[in-house]
Amino acid sequence: MNRKHLAQEKVTCVLNMASREGRRRHHDLVPLAALLSREMKNEKMEKPTVRYGNAAQSKKGEDYFFINTDCQHVPGNPSTTFSVFAIFDGHNGNAAAIYTREHLLNHVLGAVPHGLGREEWLQALPRALVSGFVKTDKEFQRRGETSGTTATFVIVDRWTVTVASVGDSRCILDTQGGDVATLTVDHRLEENVEERQRVTDSGGEVGRLSIAEGVELGPLRCWPGGLCLSRSIGDMDVGEFIVPVPYVKQVKLSNAGGRLIIASDGIWDAVSSEMAAKSCRGVPAELAATQVVKEALRTRGLKDDTTCIVVDIIPPDNKVEPSSPPKKQNKWRALLFRKKSRVSASKLAKKLSTVGIVEELFEEGSAMLAERLGNNETSAQSTSGLFTCAVCQVDLASSEGISVHAGSIFSTSAKPWQGPFLCAGCRNKKDAMEGKRPSGV
Ligand SMILES: [Zn+2]
Repeated sequence: MNRKHLAQEKVTCVLNMASREGRRRHHDLVPLAALLSREMKNEKMEKPTVRYGNAAQSKKGEDYFFINTDCQHVPGNPSTTFSVFAIFDGHNGNAAAIYTREHLLNHVLGAVPHGLGREEWLQALPRALVSGFVKTDKEFQRRGETSGTTATFVIVDRWTVTVASVGDSRCILDTQGGDVATLTVDHRLEENVEERQRVTDSGGEVGRLSIAEGVELGPLRCWPGGLCLSRSIGDMDVGEFIVPVPYVKQVKLSNAGGRLIIASDGIWDAVSSEMAAKSCRGVPAELAATQVVKEALRTRGLKDDTTCIVVDIIPPDNKVEPSSPPKKQNKWRALLFRKKSRVSASKLAKKLSTVGIVEELFEEGSAMLAERLGNNETSAQSTSGLFTCAVCQVDLASSEGISVHAGSIFSTSAKPWQGPFLCAGCRNKKDAMEGKRPSGV
């Protein structure tokens, strides 16, 4: 037996200690090579398989999607690979949806500081997503084209799922126990009271379409513009309080994995989150999206563009297809039951994280840039010694940058001379989004 084999033998011993205790003697000293090999083995064990499928039925031709399972946050380093799944449901034309599909990922990655490890990169994502969304909106509006789009942008990095979303293209998570969680909020004026308040506070008017004296029609809309959504990318012809600042949620799945269903409102206007999840349980990801679209069409017919992406995050040792085995569900029920006895029922109902299925790492939905870009001074400084605009990433001379906190009611803890900083253009945009200057200026 050569040294290498010996090292591996020792690792096997250590790894088996718990299960085979007493049956085998283990060595007290583990050579470095063995430790490294064990680390690598753990890394490998920890990496889930990602499988996906997508389906669409077009009515207006304004739904677009984006799938890339081979992105790297450190280019050239395969161990930094992550996947992106996104849906863009355009309105008043398709230009904004197409532009966002082409540029959003790059704008998000451009806002992540270089040279980060996995944990740091995941932590940097929520803020980078805000920057990327706002930048995409600003750049698209500069082109002077009409149209707008929803954007639901999902990053899957091993067990961590980060979702950023404006509009009403929902992303849900179906865990193996049958619990369905929504990872987005619908930015619709009709249902979202908070957003209605924000729009009104910023100077927008919310009301229904008036077809005759006293006769109103359809969902609540925002005027000027008449949009039913309170957030979107594009839409230069509506009030600027229709903002591109995304709701962001980041969760870590348990090692049982889970299924994501991302879809445009063509699905959600026809079926509930629970119905969508149920309609494709036991069906492999590759076919599940077709199943969900079929279910929506069966319920409501083809009234709107209908697009769906299903993503399965599958544990590496999972021999069976997700959600097909009753055996797995029993396992979950056992776990749920075990935890249930320890926490109160009300606590349990509050969040999925309390039952240990999903760990919530981050959640923030504020439309205020000052709240979303934080107080991080260090990341505002680029390597060249210049400051960088926290939104569009252009370099600024030290005299040019305007703190995101300047003149803000949120500046109580953050000093107005501290970063992050914005360029004049992004500062203008921020003010407009908060209703501090008339829109369209
Ligand atoms: Zn800028």
